[in-house]
Amino acid sequence: MSGRTLAELTGFPVDAVKYLKGRRAAALRKAGISTVADLLLHTPRRYIDRSRTVPIHEVELGEEVTVIATVRRVGTRRPRRNLAITEAVVGDGVSVLTVTWFNQTFRERQLTVGAEVALSGKLDRFRGKLQMKSPAVDVLSSATESLVTGRVVPVHPSAGEVSPGYLRRAIHNALQRARPIGDPLPTAMRERLGLISRDQAIADIHFPESMEDQGRARARLVFDELFRLEVALALSKQKMIDRAIGISHTPTTELVERFVSNLPYQLTSAQVRVISEIRDDMVAPHPMHRLLLGEVGSGKTVVAVASLLGGVEGGYQGAVMAPTEVLAEQHYLSIKDLLEQAVMAPAVEGDGAELGMSSLFGQESSDRPVTLALLTGTSSEVSFRPPGSARRDDVLGWIADGRIDLVIGTHALIQEGIRFARLGVAVVDEQHRFGVHQRVDLKEKAGDLDPDLLIMTATPIPRTLSMTLYGDLDVSELDEMPPGRPEVTTVHVAKGPPDLAEAYERVREQAEINRQTFVVCPLVEDSAKIEAASATAEYERLQQVFPGLRLGLLHGQMRSADKQTVMQSFRDGHLDVLVCTTVIEVGIDIPHSTVMIIEDADRFGLSQLHQLRGRLSRHSGPNWCYLVAEPATEEGEARINAMISTNDGFRLAEEDLRIRGQGTVFGARQAGLSDLKLANILEDMDTLVTARKEAFRLVAADPDLDRHSEIRKEIRAVLGDEVEWLFIS
Ligand code: ADP
Ligand code: MG
Repeated sequence: MSGRTLAELTGFPVDAVKYLKGRRAAALRKAGISTVADLLLHTPRRYIDRSRTVPIHEVELGEEVTVIATVRRVGTRRPRRNLAITEAVVGDGVSVLTVTWFNQTFRERQLTVGAEVALSGKLDRFRGKLQMKSPAVDVLSSATESLVTGRVVPVHPSAGEVSPGYLRRAIHNALQRARPIGDPLPTAMRERLGLISRDQAIADIHFPESMEDQGRARARLVFDELFRLEVALALSKQKMIDRAIGISHTPTTELVERFVSNLPYQLTSAQVRVISEIRDDMVAPHPMHRLLLGEVGSGKTVVAVASLLGGVEGGYQGAVMAPTEVLAEQHYLSIKDLLEQAVMAPAVEGDGAELGMSSLFGQESSDRPVTLALLTGTSSEVSFRPPGSARRDDVLGWIADGRIDLVIGTHALIQEGIRFARLGVAVVDEQHRFGVHQRVDLKEKAGDLDPDLLIMTATPIPRTLSMTLYGDLDVSELDEMPPGRPEVTTVHVAKGPPDLAEAYERVREQAEINRQTFVVCPLVEDSAKIEAASATAEYERLQQVFPGLRLGLLHGQMRSADKQTVMQSFRDGHLDVLVCTTVIEVGIDIPHSTVMIIEDADRFGLSQLHQLRGRLSRHSGPNWCYLVAEPATEEGEARINAMISTNDGFRLAEEDLRIRGQGTVFGARQAGLSDLKLANILEDMDTLVTARKEAFRLVAADPDLDRHSEIRKEIRAVLGDEVEWLFIS
């Protein structure tokens, strides 16, 4: 390969570039541009194509346009105190135009006489003269220096105080010195994919001759970004397989079969398929790293429990990790329920009768009870003791000596405090928070053998997103809903009457026929206490609104046993309305609930709204979800509209991505994501698929990238510390 590589260029500080010394270099570093490579990857935010701009005399009055002209004259008047009018006269060789700005005296410095500028705004006629008021300005070239004579002029995003014009010159200079830039892609691959060379692409993304050239340059650089990411994922997957000594589970099928046959319904064929995919992985000697994708309500919990029992059958323990304590408690409850249904929860020691659980054990009792523990920062509980009565140290001891089969807890606990006798399978309730790092931590904590890992997405995510966020995992998809799920009618209502009165009428009407309502109170960021207080106030208020109805209250600050009591009486139909916080978000399943009122719905995230609504429509009969909101932000409004327009979680997740932007969705979730600057994972889906295929093929053929050392160096250099672990042997 000839030329300097991107990896090498990460070794040159921006100060090495003419025009970028001292103060400017410092400003750039502050904006995240510290090396020549960063500078070359700082691509224009838009382009002004001279061939597509309109001569001034052809512009229609009142139309938004961009015109290109040369500055003839510029000056500032101060007709009175506090008012400075900067006026420039510009011409394009045929017509002249007067441009004015108010109190923007810096324009005088920006628009030097002779400079070529692009002005974007509306054209008017004032006293017979053409004029533009306060247009946006891009300086294309100054009078003294016409570096940019091309047809297409790039406009780079300014970086701190460093203006687009400066950046353009600096990048031009950097390019001249850095070129030719070497290409790490094998020529054969490049040709097969019809991509232009790296050198051409980097030159053309900054200074294209035409927009077609720019398009080809972008295509190549988007591929590069996605390819780097996917190679990192492929390496990560390879590494997990290589390094690991997994467990070959030997399921007897005894527990799983009993569990499945005692369910009150038939598994969907998707569930059956996914359970067997997971089982195959568990039986195989390599550790499982599998992602379970499925719409809200598609029945992921049953699949998870079946997988856990598969491990228990062979003598291993299982763990379920939830991102928050509340969710851990809920998983504990729903898994306990499922095991009780299947008559495999052990009898409660001591007085279980008062808990209403004794009847569950009256049926044919099992020879192999499955023991369950809940362990979070604030509670510890086991299924064979009355709730809340197990001491934390005892629980830890029982996990360590193997007396407990399944532990439900939070991520932190599983990572830090617990020693397992034989952890065989871990289910992670993802919530987009469990990164590659934690996966590695978990393996390290589990000892010599790597437990099998099943990651459940609590919300459906678009395929594109799963490929980037979880590209190193195998994927199972529950693409079929259990039968008989009616759609929910979602209505946006205003805060006061009459809208709200109508919703309340629905609550009363449904209560008449023994149907139930959730009233979800607003989210209070970072304060469970305030959240609880506002739910309590709403509970009191609604008692006035619904004098004849039976209301219950549920929030995260209540004691675990109290929560369970309230949930149980709601489930048993002893309550008509449950006023609650988002504690009900995941996993709660109330057969007769048909109405949900979500207050201040615009303050919830889209996936959270979808989760909440997913509590309905679990059984037959029409359902209503009322979103009470007067959205204060555009985003809030967009979320409400999205909820009304579809019940499809995958579409909502895509919409979420669109509304929030990929940057915020990814965060620092996965190495390489912050490297996506040009690529848009929704729009560049095809390229993503191609990049992924090529990346995995490459790594399969050359696992340590020994024969592709330039690719290896580049990933290390560009993706940085986050991928370092991939290269440590
Ligand atoms: P999610 O995928 O959102 O976690 P759950 O596991 O909570 O979904 O299941 C949603 C509801 O569907 C629960 O009430 C569960 O009992 C029920 N369910 C799961 N599988 C089936 C099935 N095959 N047939 C009917 N109901 C099912
Ligand atoms: Mg669930």
